[in-house]
Amino acid sequence: MQRTFAVIKPDAFAAGFQGKIISAIQESGLKVVAMKTLLLSERQAKGFYHVHAERPFFGDLVKFMTEGPILAMVLEGDDAIKRWRDLMGPTNAAEAPSTTLRGQFGTNIERNATHGSDAEDTAAFEIGYFFSGLELAR
Ligand code: UDP
Repeated sequence: MQRTFAVIKPDAFAAGFQGKIISAIQESGLKVVAMKTLLLSERQAKGFYHVHAERPFFGDLVKFMTEGPILAMVLEGDDAIKRWRDLMGPTNAAEAPSTTLRGQFGTNIERNATHGSDAEDTAAFEIGYFFSGLELAR
């Protein structure tokens, strides 16, 4: 059993795709073990994406992630990290297959509807960044 961190980003949240995305998660067999809506501050968004701080797109990414509310979730299941990333599809939503969430609900390489942790260590950091131990007690 593995846990991963998932986000419905401001573009998909504002467009009202929360229900469709949560349904897709549940139909895939992954379990939503925690979720909350929040509006990130600039400081919080920078902390979340700190690994990208030196990348040229960092400023725009922080602006995007703070433009409106997000839905943060913890997903659980066997091989959850890879399964959630497969469901999301590739980073560039413009090139993502229409069978993937980014293909269906994203727009381009920045506004791509969803986030998913890419490895066990990033999942642990990201889950802990957004959720307390009490919120994850099962
Ligand atoms: N991103 C961007 N421009 C790029 C690459 C990435 O705006 O050239 C954004 C995009 O929203 C992406 C996030 O930065 O989801 C994190 O990038 P990463 O390469 O980690 O992609 P992911 O793991 O989200 O597919």
